[in-house]
Amino acid sequence: MDIPLTLQGQKRVVIIGGGFAGLTLAKKLSPEYFQVVLLDRNNYHQFQPLLYQVATSGLEPSSISFPFRKIFQNKQNVFIRVAEVRKINSEQKYIETNIGNISYQYLVLANGAETNYFGNDLLQQNAFSMKSVPEALLLRNTLLQNYEEALVTNNEDERQSLLNIVVVGGGPTGVELAGALAEMKNIILPKDYPELNISGMNVYLSEAAPRVLNNMDKSSSDKAAGYLRYLGVTIITGASVQQYDGQTVSLSNGQTLNAKCLIWAASVKGAYIEGVNQELVLPNGRLKTNKYNRLGEQSDIFAIGDIACMTDDKYPKGHPQVAPVAIQQAKLLAKNLENLVLSKPLIPFQYNDKGSMATVGRNYAIVEMGRVKIRGFIAWCIWLLVHLMSIVGIKNRLLVFINWVWQYITYDQSLRLIIKAKEKETIVNHAHYTSHRIKMCKEVSRKGAKPPRIMN
Ligand SMILES: Cc1cc2nc3c(=O)[nH]c(=O)nc-3n(C[C@H](O)[C@H](O)[C@H](O)COP(=O)(O)OP(=O)(O)OC[C@H]3O[C@@H](n4cnc5c(N)ncnc54)[C@H](O)[C@@H]3O)c2cc1C
Repeated sequence: MDIPLTLQGQKRVVIIGGGFAGLTLAKKLSPEYFQVVLLDRNNYHQFQPLLYQVATSGLEPSSISFPFRKIFQNKQNVFIRVAEVRKINSEQKYIETNIGNISYQYLVLANGAETNYFGNDLLQQNAFSMKSVPEALLLRNTLLQNYEEALVTNNEDERQSLLNIVVVGGGPTGVELAGALAEMKNIILPKDYPELNISGMNVYLSEAAPRVLNNMDKSSSDKAAGYLRYLGVTIITGASVQQYDGQTVSLSNGQTLNAKCLIWAASVKGAYIEGVNQELVLPNGRLKTNKYNRLGEQSDIFAIGDIACMTDDKYPKGHPQVAPVAIQQAKLLAKNLENLVLSKPLIPFQYNDKGSMATVGRNYAIVEMGRVKIRGFIAWCIWLLVHLMSIVGIKNRLLVFINWVWQYITYDQSLRLIIKAKEKETIVNHAHYTSHRIKMCKEVSRKGAKPPRIMN
């Protein structure tokens, strides 16, 4: 891979992944000591907490995505390459990617997590996940396409399963998504599809634990469940989804549901890259690090964010896989890498937990900050503010803010477009088809007959 040589006094830090962790680290590393190579399979950073709003047509994908090259326009020590990282060679200190190899002095794994289907292939084939902007867009297209198909089918059972949606996983993502889908059903769909009997549509939220938002206080969880029910969501707790064939959802309590759309927000696992010391890979795919995010006491490889698992008395299973952990670990690692270069002692990581929050539709959210618990409209305002301030770029913040205000006032948004990328080959075939049809038409009209009707 063609990267300029490091300047005198600089060490090369290769970062895999430009999510919250990788992006923050790349921003913080000083040009005095480091050349930074940031690798990501996408050319943009994505703000995952608002993916559900893209999937439910509340926000455009561009409002929550930001190109790396724009972010680092003024940072001369950062080199960006859009690449899929395939393998780490820790002995020779280089990594393999689809665009070539690159050597490193320090390597930082910030490649996050991916959807965990627990090895169930049929489920993986048929369920929808929501870990990236393209996945959220696929979900948006599918939901809208299902409504269109529900309108034209003559089969009542088919219509019912096209309208039904099952969200699996009652954590913040599942709760937020189910709330947004229920609001879409209550507010938008009756206006867009007056001919459809929307009351027949069901939004199910399925959670294996005894309650939704299981990591929050029981009273918060009860309030969230109450508000979801008020919006019309059917909550199923204490039963896990066993199988899904694209039509029938089978639950562990023997219940079955019919739905053409099942969204899997139940579990994630560390994103695997070959070559990592297998002894450090935990069953959930996360990488066991020491308290400096290092993979081994003397290693030149570090892991931060969702992929990393650092345990202590307070977090025996590792820190929660949330953005603040990723950002705080990245900031500290920037400092610690500098300390390494300057032969200073390293500082151990300590998570400063500022609390957790989840929103349930418009106007209602739950915020927990230590003993302080806020629910309702004020919590929703805090949720809005925190998310708005976390989005990269002033333009994006403004776009999201304007969208939210517009939705709030009008109860509507105009983003319900089914836009699918067209394959180059299809265009060629279409051109071939068109010229073939023109030839046929010319031939037929030359003979004085009517041109054939090709499409119904
Ligand atoms: C739908 C959803 C909602 C969420 N809501 C919240 C919330 O409200 N609050 C909160 O705090 N957290 C939330 N989270 C969790 C939060 O987004 C993650 O904790 C955070 O993104 C972790 O940051 P990261 O940098 O470790 O990983 P990520 O942000 O996932 O970034 C990983 C990056 O690595 C890249 N990558 C991965 N593998 C490779 C490879 N082999 N080669 C090249 N590039 C690669 C990916 O493209 C990606 O850009 C949510 C997550 C999801 C999915």
